[in-house]
Amino acid sequence: HRKKQKSVSELAAAILKGDKVALSQGITLIESQQSTHQEKAKQLIEACLSHVKPSIRIGITGVPGVGKSTFIEAFGTSLISKGYKVAVLAVDPSSGVTHGSILGDKTRMEDLVKEDNAFIRPSPSGDSLGGVARKTRESIILCEAAGFDVILIETVGVGQSETTVHSMTDFFLLLKLAGAGDELQGIKRGIIEMADAIVINKADGENIKAAKQAKSEFRKALHLYPEKESQWQPKVLLASALKQEGISEVWEMIEDYKTSTKASSYFEFRRQEQNKFWLLQTIQDRLKADFFSKPNIKTALQEQLKAIEDHKTTAFEAASYLLNLK
Ligand code: GDP
Repeated sequence: HRKKQKSVSELAAAILKGDKVALSQGITLIESQQSTHQEKAKQLIEACLSHVKPSIRIGITGVPGVGKSTFIEAFGTSLISKGYKVAVLAVDPSSGVTHGSILGDKTRMEDLVKEDNAFIRPSPSGDSLGGVARKTRESIILCEAAGFDVILIETVGVGQSETTVHSMTDFFLLLKLAGAGDELQGIKRGIIEMADAIVINKADGENIKAAKQAKSEFRKALHLYPEKESQWQPKVLLASALKQEGISEVWEMIEDYKTSTKASSYFEFRRQEQNKFWLLQTIQDRLKADFFSKPNIKTALQEQLKAIEDHKTTAFEAASYLLNLK
């Protein structure tokens, strides 16, 4: 027999009670392209927004193979043992395009998945990073309404996705490996600049010496960057996600960050700035989507593209014409 679909208010009530099944259903609504679902998702987010509990949102990035999922498993499990509720979300620019989502692989984070106080959601698919980012941002709100107080947002260390994740998190963690010989050249300057901490992972066994070396090099390098708006001096730590070493030190550091940025009000300020940024971003996305989904635009756009090909118009002229169509 068919299960009765929950109304938005039933779903919201269940999410607020911490029901993970309801949370998943809510996120599925957020991720849906159907307009009826999108309308419900909007109502759901509104219902949840006023119940969002204090949380910390942590971005975690690093190239494939650096140990992100092993680290998140160790870190998340350790936080749960401290009494936190941990949600793991992902922003994956490659999802649906090439090798599928970074959290898609079911074998990842096997222990964390089993925890009652953990919620793990693979990355949404989407045709643009902006679309994926919006869904992730709205999913954060639902997770927080469900009582998750540590939100980990994983992204793969390629392309634009770090900037996106940085713009929705309080603390940004870069995982690195030592001993590649190109410690300083190998990473994009912009990413180092965004990092509140670099954790050199796989600091175990034969890697320890190289890891210590890398730590002091990164430390020196970080001093060359201009001071952060947060006044926080980025830290370099060693960890072995596999052996679960150096994991609580990472959390202690993040707590220090939280304490000092809350005392200076930077923490709140930054969230406000992020909210303003997302307001503008949402308007841009909606305007764009509305424009391109108009049936008369679809045909007129094809005509104008052809006209450009035939040298009958210019890009500027064509754009003005299309934007003025009612
Ligand atoms: P991701 O692609 O960044 O998510 O990396 P994974 O977490 O999947 O790890 C890639 C490989 O590195 C796996 O074989 C892990 O077992 C291994 N690995 C992860 N963390 C550590 C670590 O701290 N030490 C060692 N020696 N291996 C690790």
